[in-house]
Amino acid sequence: MESPCPCPVCRSGELTSLTLMDAMSCNFCRHIFVPNGEPDVLTLADSAVALTWRWNGKRWLGVQHGGTIVGWEAGLLGAAFVLFPTMVMGFSAYLFPPLPGSPWAWFPLFWTGLTFCAHLVCVVWLAVEYYQFPVQLYLRAIQQAVIRNKSSIIN
Ligand SMILES: [Zn+2]
Repeated sequence: MESPCPCPVCRSGELTSLTLMDAMSCNFCRHIFVPNGEPDVLTLADSAVALTWRWNGKRWLGVQHGGTIVGWEAGLLGAAFVLFPTMVMGFSAYLFPPLPGSPWAWFPLFWTGLTFCAHLVCVVWLAVEYYQFPVQLYLRAIQQAVIRNKSSIIN
């Protein structure tokens, strides 16, 4: 693992070794990682879910541990959870279209969109919870980057 090494959780901060401890912490999201015994493998220490990553020389890869689904299976489940209800709503709106000119003609389309958004929010929220992704810190970092860009354009 070269240093500075990017953080596997936020992918914005850098990992620094904690003094007198066999652990590393991120200077951005403040998560703490401990080595797993194997070289280039880190485990998240300050979370209920023991997430583990392996450094492949370029980036962090999630390590699958028994019982939990990560990676493409979770992605597929998430996509099905978002797309399937949306398709059901869209199909029923298509099969039973509202009477043309009726005041509620917009409703099936709106409801289909709402179904999509609500399920997407569920999936995103689950992912954020699972990975303990620091949304607020991340947004603040983006905001600061935008402000920095703006001021560099003005100057
Ligand atoms: Zn981090």
